[in-house]
Amino acid sequence: TADILRLENLQVHFLIQGGLFDRALGRPAGAVRAVDGIDLKIGRGEIVALVGESGSGKTTVGRVITKLAHPTGGRMLFEGRDMTSIQGAAALLPYRHRVQMIFQDAYQALNPRHTIFDIVAEPLRSLRLVDNATELAERVSEALASAGLNPPGDFFSRFPHELSGGQRQRVVIAGALAVKPQLIVADEPVSMLDVSIRAQILQVLVDLRAKHNLALLFITHDLPLAWLIADRIAVMYLGKLVEIGTADEITFNPRHPYTVALRSATPQIGANARRAELPALLGEVPSAARVPKGCRFHPRCPLAFDRCKAEEPPAIEVGPQHRSACWLARDLPVVRKCVASVE
Ligand code: SF4
Repeated sequence: TADILRLENLQVHFLIQGGLFDRALGRPAGAVRAVDGIDLKIGRGEIVALVGESGSGKTTVGRVITKLAHPTGGRMLFEGRDMTSIQGAAALLPYRHRVQMIFQDAYQALNPRHTIFDIVAEPLRSLRLVDNATELAERVSEALASAGLNPPGDFFSRFPHELSGGQRQRVVIAGALAVKPQLIVADEPVSMLDVSIRAQILQVLVDLRAKHNLALLFITHDLPLAWLIADRIAVMYLGKLVEIGTADEITFNPRHPYTVALRSATPQIGANARRAELPALLGEVPSAARVPKGCRFHPRCPLAFDRCKAEEPPAIEVGPQHRSACWLARDLPVVRKCVASVE
């Protein structure tokens, strides 16, 4: 499939106040490198999960794609067209029509004083996508039904506080769907919901892809969840993609120590493979204002060696569609077995 979205060496750096230009670093000393040069493609109708801890920069990537944040370097192409520096409401209108975002907190995302009808109708009105009231009602109905709110008419005059958490998240999804986008960026869309409702919301998203060939960037901290829904998984750490591959490869054949650590934190996946896992992660994610030299993961990596502290590893190809930015990427399965047998 042709790519719908392409990020090329995308960067979002910003200055913290008082940051002075540092000649040795070639950049201001106080710069926060929230996103530090990532390459990512999303195909038409493809579901890609962007996985990382908080502070990894994953939400910033989502905000850049939806034009809520501006990149400071690199390019963003949508259907082959360079969208990097396009700004202004009028110029962005066609783009906002094609790319929508779903946020984590459905309660915050919904205006408590508006009816469900008005909430879902709002983007259709502001993007001027309908001509008359009949068409508006049809589009709102269709969107509510696609998000699993049936019969749609029952929800028109209700208010957000009258709905359950799962229903509210469906309203948020309906609002995004109403404009018939080609790409949805969903930032932790189920993390505030009960486990029983999560599966239903995930099913709604998967159905949308099947029915409308919708592409989805699913942002989450939860690797098993990413595996459930995504075709491919990209793992992000401190502003960089450290590993990318098919959902199965990343989950069952990870080639970056950080992915291995994320995986061991989730017993459902690691149960049988426990013995071969690495020791727990050391410490916390450093600040994006102080990205470590060399491999940015080295202060927390149980396998770090001298080279890791000095040289940043490139993305190394370890299989079809599978890349890992670790000096040990190719040897990781063997290295892990050795570590496990010494313990
Ligand atoms: Fe660990 Fe070195 Fe690989 Fe970085 S390059 S993840 S420090 S082994």
